[in-house]
Amino acid sequence: MTSSAVKLIPLKNLSLKPAKLLSRDSNTKLIKTAKNKPIVLAGLSLMPTPVLCPSSKNAECFEPCLKNSGLAAVYKSVNESRQRKSDYYLQDQEAFLTQLRRELFNLEKYARKHDKKAVVRLNVLSDVAWETHNIPQEFPNIFMYDYTKRADRLGKTPANYKLMFSYSAAPKYKTQVDIALKTNTPITVVFKNGLPSAFLGREVIDGDKSDLDNLKALGKIVGLRAKGNLAKQSLSPFIIDSLKANSISIAA
Ligand code: SF4
Repeated sequence: MTSSAVKLIPLKNLSLKPAKLLSRDSNTKLIKTAKNKPIVLAGLSLMPTPVLCPSSKNAECFEPCLKNSGLAAVYKSVNESRQRKSDYYLQDQEAFLTQLRRELFNLEKYARKHDKKAVVRLNVLSDVAWETHNIPQEFPNIFMYDYTKRADRLGKTPANYKLMFSYSAAPKYKTQVDIALKTNTPITVVFKNGLPSAFLGREVIDGDKSDLDNLKALGKIVGLRAKGNLAKQSLSPFIIDSLKANSISIAA
C-alpha cells in the first residue's frame, strides 16, 4: 500500500474517534523489546504526516518510511486506523491528549498491579515533541522513549523520556546530523545490504533486537535493516547502502 492509497477521514462523526490510542501488540519491534522483560510496553502508532514529522521533508524519509511495511502492506485497515488517530490529534488535540492521559494512567495502574514497569513509545511512526505537551512530565513513573529526527529535542526531554536520533544522508538534513554527532545520543541508521561494522567513525551495533538495548548504545550507531520492498529498493538518502557506507564521512 502506498501513502496515497490512504484517504484522510475527517472526524465529523464522533463514532470514528479511535476507541483506543495505545496498543500493546501491534508492532513487531515493541513485542521483541518487551519479550521476557518485567515491563508492560505500549506504543502509539499515528499515521505520519509532514506536520507530525516536521523533519521528514529535509531528511527525505517520508517515502521509504515504515508506514508501508509489515501488516500495513497487507491490511488496508492498519493505516486507516493510524490515519484516524492522526486526524484526531490534528483536529481535536485537547480531546486527544485527554484520552492519551487516561490511557497512560490506566497503563501505569495495570503495570503496577502486575509488579511491572510501564514503558511507552509514543512516536512509533511520528515525531511529535510530547515533552511540549507535558506528557512525560505528568507520568514520571512511566519510562518513555522515541526515535527522533529533530536534533533540537536532544537533551531537552525529562529524565524519564529518552531519545535516539535518526540519521539521513540528505544534504538539507546535514545540520541536524552535525548537532546530533556532537552528543553521545545513540544514532540510528537504516542500512540495506546488511550492517557495516562502523559508520561515521562510530561502532555499529545490531539495533533490530531491542529498543531498550539501543537506548544504551551511547556514542554508537544503532544499525537497523531496511524492512519491506519499498524501503529496500528506495534510493532515498534515509536508507544507506552498507556496501557504500565507507564513502560517507562526517564531513560529507
Ligand atoms: S520522521 Fe520517521 S515516522 Fe516520520 S516519515 Fe520520517 S521515517 Fe517515517
